[in-house]
Amino acid sequence: MEQIPAIPKLVLRAPLSGHLMSIERVPDPVFAQKMVGDGISIDPLSQCLAAPCDGEVVQLHSGGHAVTLATTGGIEVMMHIGLDTVALKGQGFIPKVKVGDKVTIGDALIEFDADYIATHAKSLLTQIVITTQDRVAALAPRAGIVTAGKDIIMEVTLVGDKAEAKAQAGKAVTSEAILVPNPTGLHARPAAVLANVAKKFKANIRLQRGEDQANAKSVVAIMGLEVSYGDKVNLMAQGPDAEEAIAALIPMLQQGLGDEGAVPAPAPASVTLPETAAPAPRPRSEDPNLLLGVAASHGIAAGNVCQVRHEEIAVKEEGEDPYLERRTLDDAIEQAKLQLAALQARLQSEANPGKAAIFAAHQELLEDPDLLDIAISAIAKGKSAPFAWRRAYTTYAAQLSTLKSELLAFRANDLRDVGERVLRLLTGVETKEPELPPRTILVAEELTPSDMAALDRSRVVGLCTTGGGATSHVAILARSLDIPVVAGIDPRALDVPQGAPVILDGGKGTVRLNPTPEEVARIQRLLERQAARRKADLETALQPAQTTEGQRLEVVANIGGVADAQQAVRLGGEGVGLLRSEFLFMGRGVAPSEEEQARIYRAIAEALGPERPLVIRTLDVGGDKPLPYLPIPREDNPFLGERGIRIGLDRPEILRVQLRAILRASTAGKVHVMFPMVATLAEWRAARAVLEEEREKLGVPPIPVGIMVEVPAAALMAEQFAREVEFFSIGTNDLTQYTLAMDRGHPKLAPQVDGLNPAVLSLIASTVRAARQYGKWVGVCGGIAGDPQAVPLLIGLGVDELSVSLPTIPRIKAQIRTLSLAECQQLAQEALRQDSAAAVRALCPSLEEDLDGRVG
Ligand code: PEP
Ligand code: MG
Repeated sequence: MEQIPAIPKLVLRAPLSGHLMSIERVPDPVFAQKMVGDGISIDPLSQCLAAPCDGEVVQLHSGGHAVTLATTGGIEVMMHIGLDTVALKGQGFIPKVKVGDKVTIGDALIEFDADYIATHAKSLLTQIVITTQDRVAALAPRAGIVTAGKDIIMEVTLVGDKAEAKAQAGKAVTSEAILVPNPTGLHARPAAVLANVAKKFKANIRLQRGEDQANAKSVVAIMGLEVSYGDKVNLMAQGPDAEEAIAALIPMLQQGLGDEGAVPAPAPASVTLPETAAPAPRPRSEDPNLLLGVAASHGIAAGNVCQVRHEEIAVKEEGEDPYLERRTLDDAIEQAKLQLAALQARLQSEANPGKAAIFAAHQELLEDPDLLDIAISAIAKGKSAPFAWRRAYTTYAAQLSTLKSELLAFRANDLRDVGERVLRLLTGVETKEPELPPRTILVAEELTPSDMAALDRSRVVGLCTTGGGATSHVAILARSLDIPVVAGIDPRALDVPQGAPVILDGGKGTVRLNPTPEEVARIQRLLERQAARRKADLETALQPAQTTEGQRLEVVANIGGVADAQQAVRLGGEGVGLLRSEFLFMGRGVAPSEEEQARIYRAIAEALGPERPLVIRTLDVGGDKPLPYLPIPREDNPFLGERGIRIGLDRPEILRVQLRAILRASTAGKVHVMFPMVATLAEWRAARAVLEEEREKLGVPPIPVGIMVEVPAAALMAEQFAREVEFFSIGTNDLTQYTLAMDRGHPKLAPQVDGLNPAVLSLIASTVRAARQYGKWVGVCGGIAGDPQAVPLLIGLGVDELSVSLPTIPRIKAQIRTLSLAECQQLAQEALRQDSAAAVRALCPSLEEDLDGRVG
């Protein structure tokens, strides 16, 4: 074979000042074993990565932590700042170049915040590797301390271009679709693993995502595809061993290519998205005048239909100068952020913090690097800013809507909402607010949080959508506005003529068509009575709640943050029985720090004042509610897997930080700690031990500590627990699902998941008995605490505290004042003897009975 003349050496100068280190010593096998390529590592003393040679930027990771230059001779030099820095999602990095830029030695490539990276990532060690390994004949790394731009760090002796191997004869094989399970996508490490295995085969192997493809034997090319978690990819191979290659690579890709924390993606790999994410079959009523859906916001409304359709905004596909298109997009995004900030401020000032938070989350969505990347790459390919942007957010939303977690899937709607906001700014198409007559019931396929913010509450009395569900942001907003909502309604709702009278029951999830005028008038009168009663409840909300015999009950609030605490006090809440601390952890890229948590807990305690108790439940997330920065392996039965305290004990660093924050805030009020999902005494003792260790370290006084009783095992062993805990709070939402072995969100079983089932009541009774024996108090913080039919039973069973949602506080307090303890006790005993939840409910007339039953 003819010897190809050697190309002169490639000399690389220091991209950073610092200490040189052999690549083999890097504490990451991907680099140490030269899977990405051979090179050198620097322990940096400077904070701006500079070009080590002349070249063109061929790849820049969206996180800004890695960049690749290609020399004119086709040699690719990749620089990776820090280890595991992909997880920082761009925080701490300011790229100074973009793909396609030509640079010369010493030009700034990426500025970074060394302090931030050193404290938030595994290491600051920065690797410089030649990824085109087949072009390297020899490599001579230097040692010692170097100065950026001046000293040589390595000399690379190259071999000339080898002739491209002739296309291999052989079969072409394409894999099934694979959903990428790596939480941070195919970044350097999994890309290197994939490329290394692919290289073992003779076949030409390509990785495909949508319309884009990359050589699966090139780390840089794979990284350039910017494959994210949940992306659908295919492998294509052609050559003599194509079949073997595909068979070997599929399971590796499915299992995350050795990435720690890879969560197998939520849909089976062999199916296509999004069509396969079919909603659960919807029940259909036999009665042609009754449409069934999901109860999303309680209340009844009688009104006239107004069909709302989101119009399609026309956009031009071809763009002008990509630079100008990019500027147009950036400007529109900035303007949208300003709009959202103004909306957030308005809602905050109207004491609507929950809603304000939703629009704060929208601003964050506009900073999502992956979303922006999709748009920017389309602009780079000649598309117009509106076209590129619409493609980006619709693609991204389609991906989200396929996720198994209902919570994440509903965020797709938020993304479309914020996406459309920017699109309107880009196209100048304004939203036309329909003229609504009084007593309107809006019917739509989907409503967005922006629609909700613009809603004229004086005219709209109910909402009904074919999409969405009870946990969507629209439902949350509607509940805070006290507007009844039926989500996931039978699509026949979209055919109801404009102006047709209907009766909507947000508690039952039904819409009745063609009601008689008498029916409408009766409901109207009842609603007026209800409004009057609500006004009266509010007037007495600040008075204590005691039975006719003078027995005091604490009515406290279930809250998610500081503003809820302020609202709870205004509504007569006598404290907080459940702070769902997971709200602080959701919708963000990293966990809140100890400092941030302590600040929030302190603010909540201060909002409640020195007398009102604050029960902080430690992080209660699980397989069904993943946090992006806390990957939990996919569970076959997420409700039976790692949830609640099990996660806290498995990842004690998260629990420890949270407990420290709670303890630090504990001096600001009557702070209590509560552990969720406790099933065994061992779990409780382990969690309490962590609390005690941290308390001693901080030197603060002990605080009351208790458990949620939401697993039947805890209720059945309440006596053993009662000896050790200071209080119980019964989580009837979970206790009911676990007692009946019925998923609380199951579309078909949900109506049967009723906390008034005598089995659940009996567990509550035994929990209270055990607590009494040891002088401990018992609260109920599940949904039935705010159910007027359940309140007399819970009082009769002997609970001390009811922790309810904010709007129900005045009503429940007013109801308690009408009840006799002795009668409640009798009623409770009778309820325990019934044989079904329905029979129990029949014993306890609903306050709204006159409305129910007539509607659906
Ligand atoms: C419960 O399970 O009843 C409870 C209050 O907790 P969550 O609804 O947050 O699971
Ligand atoms: Mg629970």
